[in-house]
Amino acid sequence: MFYLKHKGRRLEIHDDNVYTRCPQCGKERVVDLQEILSSGDGDLYGTAIFCSGCLEKHKKEIKLQELGLHTSEIESIARRHNTSSDEVKGIVTSGLEHGFDVKTCLIGARLALSLSDGVEEYFTAEEAAAVMGTDEQTAVQEMEKAGVSPARITTLPGFEWLLGK
Ligand SMILES: [Zn+2]
Repeated sequence: MFYLKHKGRRLEIHDDNVYTRCPQCGKERVVDLQEILSSGDGDLYGTAIFCSGCLEKHKKEIKLQELGLHTSEIESIARRHNTSSDEVKGIVTSGLEHGFDVKTCLIGARLALSLSDGVEEYFTAEEAAAVMGTDEQTAVQEMEKAGVSPARITTLPGFEWLLGK
């Protein structure tokens, strides 16, 4: 058993009397030292524990930074659907708020715009798999079951070398 000493008094450490402050907003909360130390990636002196509000905000900022890397893709989606980059970004951001990753949200935006304006979008098996959370083969099988026949990219006879064959 460990305890703290304060002015000669012994203070036992429990799971409800050790506090920390969120480094972002300063909100005080109880921490369970046992839990932090046993998680393996915490240490007693250097671990900063964000409150859940700040943690969510922090995660969202990281996703928005990641979104910044996809500017040209967002612009090309906007052009195809004759809309603004801001509208595409709006759809993607609302997907991010629902907890999806950037890649899935971009696919979702293409799907949503395509459903609303009828301009067809083509999705690769890899993209379908990312959205469905399966491998590519399963994604293709699922789509075939749903009556979606996948298009295959191929080439003219004699030009197989283009595909490295
Ligand atoms: Zn906070």
